[in-house]
Amino acid sequence: MEQTKTTCPYCGVGCGLIVECDGARFKVSGDPDHPANFGRLCSKGSALGETLDLDNRLLHPQIDGSIADWGTALDTVAQRFSDIIAEHGQDAVAFYVSGQLLTEDYYVANKLMKGFIGSANIDTNSRLCMSSAVAAYKRAFGSDTVPCSYEDLERAKLIVLTGSNTAWCHPVIYQRIVSARKENPDLQIVVIDPRRTATCDSADLHLPLAPGSDAVLFNGLLAYLQQHEEGNALFTANYCEGVDEALASAVASAPTIESVAQQCALPEASVARFYRLFARTERVVTLYSQGINQSSSGTDKANAIINCHLYTGRIGRPGMGPFSMTGQPNAMGGREVGGLANQLAAHMELDNPHHRALLQQFWQAPRIADTPGLKAVELFEAIEQGKVKAVWIMATNPLVSLPDVVRVKTALQKCELVVVSDCMDDTDTLQHAHIKLPALAWGEKEGTVTNSERRISRQRAFLGAPGEAKADWWIVSEVAKRMGFGDQFNWNSPAGIFSEYAQLTAYENHGTRDLDLGGLSELSEKEYDTLQPVQWPIHKGQTRGAARLFGDGRFYTASGKARMVAVTPRSPMSQCSGDYPLRLNTGRIRDQWHTMTRTGKTPRLTNHQPEPLVTIHPHDARRYGISDRGFAVLHSSHGAVKMRANVSSEVKPGTLFVPMHWSDRFAAQARINALVPPHVDPISGQPESKHAVAAIIPLTMAWQGLLLSRRRLAFDRSLQWSVSKMAGGWCYHLAAETEPADWALAGRAILCSPHQDAGWIEYFDSATTRYRAARLVNGRLEGCLFVGPQLDLTMQLWLETLFTREQLSDSERIALLSGRTPDNIHNGGRIICACHNVGETDIKAAIDSGARSVEALGSRLKAGTHCGSCISEMKAILASHDQECVEHIAGLKL
Ligand code: SF4
Repeated sequence: MEQTKTTCPYCGVGCGLIVECDGARFKVSGDPDHPANFGRLCSKGSALGETLDLDNRLLHPQIDGSIADWGTALDTVAQRFSDIIAEHGQDAVAFYVSGQLLTEDYYVANKLMKGFIGSANIDTNSRLCMSSAVAAYKRAFGSDTVPCSYEDLERAKLIVLTGSNTAWCHPVIYQRIVSARKENPDLQIVVIDPRRTATCDSADLHLPLAPGSDAVLFNGLLAYLQQHEEGNALFTANYCEGVDEALASAVASAPTIESVAQQCALPEASVARFYRLFARTERVVTLYSQGINQSSSGTDKANAIINCHLYTGRIGRPGMGPFSMTGQPNAMGGREVGGLANQLAAHMELDNPHHRALLQQFWQAPRIADTPGLKAVELFEAIEQGKVKAVWIMATNPLVSLPDVVRVKTALQKCELVVVSDCMDDTDTLQHAHIKLPALAWGEKEGTVTNSERRISRQRAFLGAPGEAKADWWIVSEVAKRMGFGDQFNWNSPAGIFSEYAQLTAYENHGTRDLDLGGLSELSEKEYDTLQPVQWPIHKGQTRGAARLFGDGRFYTASGKARMVAVTPRSPMSQCSGDYPLRLNTGRIRDQWHTMTRTGKTPRLTNHQPEPLVTIHPHDARRYGISDRGFAVLHSSHGAVKMRANVSSEVKPGTLFVPMHWSDRFAAQARINALVPPHVDPISGQPESKHAVAAIIPLTMAWQGLLLSRRRLAFDRSLQWSVSKMAGGWCYHLAAETEPADWALAGRAILCSPHQDAGWIEYFDSATTRYRAARLVNGRLEGCLFVGPQLDLTMQLWLETLFTREQLSDSERIALLSGRTPDNIHNGGRIICACHNVGETDIKAAIDSGARSVEALGSRLKAGTHCGSCISEMKAILASHDQECVEHIAGLKL
């Protein structure tokens, strides 16, 4: 069987994959030789083979809705960009790019904008993910350097996970931590998160701190370390500056454990235990992610963490360091090549005239940007204000992912020229494009990505280009040529681009910049094709990169010393009020990625949580009249969404959690960023996606329904709907506030039959307000609708099997009408283990028959034995079973 080694396109863990092709089927497994994952995968990575179809792919260039040939499309983009630049200047155009681009694509786009157009108006969706971590590293180290490696997790004695639901968002890192603990039972794990997430499952200590109080907690830790003389005086004396100022700020804002506990709403004993653990453990890794970064004081929060590591000298040695996890597959690669509006390529600085001169010289560029460009939120504000007149959006969907998306939509509607390159044809953003350019997708394109531990890996193609889709680097280069910059954009392959980029990192470097790929700057095409995963820096003449940095105490600041930053904690910018009494947190769920354009293609990943949910604490649910599984409206001063509620004590009282994945393609009115204000960190420009304020009110639905259809359907605004993929079609959850006057008419309108010859079977019970209908074409089930006062999912799995048949039998037609699943049909229930397709009902049955532990369930059902992301839910099912037993026995005794 043909094998291709490549890298996962989802999160910043950067797992290595082996793709095996057997005819038209692709099997994806973890690469046992890749140092990021050593063969492990999570549910998303495992399901990649099921996402390779060409449904909804953008396959041809289009101008104003009509298919165009590539030459015309590229000429038009180049001409219209050139015209706008000529008339309004270079800052009237912008690129908004993506952590999904490969490093080579990113390099070319950045080179065109900063060196040849001469503006720094290129920003990226990575701004939304980790720009605060970048800003904090640069303040502390003088460079954007992640000092650690994943292997430090296995060598640590204490791992602090803060602002990170690692179990769901970086699952393979979580698996490594869980395995490390099995090998080393003394390893302690502290989880700091307002929510009780799946990650807390393995925690020795969970600190559910008040949202936004992270800087107080870490300032308190710094003050504690000083008060208990736990600092590393030798290290701070020789290698740090700003120590006294940082300590003074820490003591002023968080002087005692009592004060910290009060400000963070934590028990004093828990704070004291965390501080003692940190103080007495030399090998500490602090892993942090979006919970720290996505804040209006995210940079300060990250510096408060870094301060504690610098003060104790816990950096640059095995098993220790402040470790920012990147969210996206190539956010790190984008940082390297300068894909942010406030940096130049190869970790050179915009405000450094020497760096600007070096870059201009190396690129032989006519000009070089010399002032920072517009960061993501500012960029779309400038578009709305008409200051930016042309934007080229590459591989991202800002109409879902940016805060205040209603305004982003207005901005794109007003924009004179919107060019979008994407592999998908139906993203929310693409609807506003004047020019659409079809790009290659994962599995079709060639290049490199860099993961969270600075490890560069190859993404390799194992599929041919579909339709007329092209590599992003090729598309940008062709536009650059048409703008008159042909000599500098004349590559034949990504290998040539990578070689140029690697040479740039080493150019006049002499150890002055952390990023140096000199050892990779002369790779032949063949060597590039077979490049093994390698960490940077990798200097000329070297074949291995560095696992960790700063072990020599030399930093990239002007003084060569690390900088401890005085941090004054600040509250989130949105404050609760009578109108908006609840704090809204947004984030990811286990089996979805970004706006679901790829993960939404496979039933295996959509079954775990098929619809958007707002999680609310039981106290708040009672207070606001919200029932579990009932509907609610959430609103803020920026917008409103509607969705079903999940009542759970996973969230703190006074807070709500809503996933960020659902777009208008997958649900009606569920884009949660409609509620999030465009508040940003003043240093990094990263939006405060983890903290908005909102109100919630119950929404009474007159009816709810389950609809399965071979085709995607469109509904009018009176219907609340969400859709997920099933084998052979789509599964909709429907609801509406009013009952139709005539179900026979309404059912036909919903199932929307274009076939005059469609067969129609239906049943209406007015006493129970239940309606069932099915549409058949030539005996084949095309769609069916089950309506009642509540959503009844018990028949769903059986109904899905009917869509695999060419003809329905008489007994199946009768079962459809009667609304009862035949007795001999197995229904495993809601999917818990996506890797092995094991449902909740099967797990409960196995528990009832004696499998009373995760291990026993694993050996009986295989559930939880692959990626492990479902183990926390299996534990919860086991616990609730125990609770039911206790209640049952108590009832018997009474
Ligand atoms: Fe992909 Fe999962 Fe690995 Fe992330 S942890 S890179 S999503 S397989």
